[in-house]
Amino acid sequence: MARKLLIAANWKMHKTIPEAVDFAKKIKELKAERDILVCAPFTLLPAVAQELQGSSVGFGGQNMHFEEKGAFTGEISPLMLNELKCTHVIIGHSERRHVFGEDNALINKKIKSALAHNLIPVFCVGEKLEEREAGKTQDVVKEQIDKGLEGVENVDSVVIAYEPVWAIGTGKTATPDQAQEVHAFIREFMTELYSDDAANELRILYGGSVKPANVKELMSEKDIDGALVGGASLEFDSFSQLVNPQ
Ligand code: PEP
Repeated sequence: MARKLLIAANWKMHKTIPEAVDFAKKIKELKAERDILVCAPFTLLPAVAQELQGSSVGFGGQNMHFEEKGAFTGEISPLMLNELKCTHVIIGHSERRHVFGEDNALINKKIKSALAHNLIPVFCVGEKLEEREAGKTQDVVKEQIDKGLEGVENVDSVVIAYEPVWAIGTGKTATPDQAQEVHAFIREFMTELYSDDAANELRILYGGSVKPANVKELMSEKDIDGALVGGASLEFDSFSQLVNPQ
């Protein structure tokens, strides 16, 4: 069965409540052949949830703690995301890894916790520029997946996002060939770790400066099953062109 494309917005630390509501109202009216997901800042999630609940548009957070509750100042728990009926949560985004120091072991705990709370983790992996230049892309991605999914028996509800760090927010996109090569490698590694069926059904998104001008080419690659989008997800016009390319 062909994998349906998923276009996911990562708003990062942007938008006010009225802006978020306006976007959500428009996005749920779109007639789209691709699945859509909106990952919003925590303060916007209740309003986004209210608009999107009952629609086919998924929504969720950009991070979460692995514990259900406790003395973790500034954190948000999976139960809090459940309360809003979030469908997804981004885990291990490169900004969490490289700005906030999250490591593979912590990301593994978060993925397990998300799955235990019926949240679909959008599990991000990707190499830094110096790692690519040193020919280590596959080693880095393999280790991130191996450690991130340690002890995860079932990946039916996992989405992987390959996001080369050098392409995030930089305007530099991986070429379709560069992205396809890593996506195929990830799928092959997932076959090794799980099974042919699990790897075939797995959605692997590409992220890194996806925009209306390059989305078609990227999405036409065999192993690219959607996009995780930062900058071009902030305006409804550009995001809707990713969902329904001209
Ligand atoms: C992201 O935030 O995951 C991302 C890919 O950002 P951008 O599209 O701006 O590169």
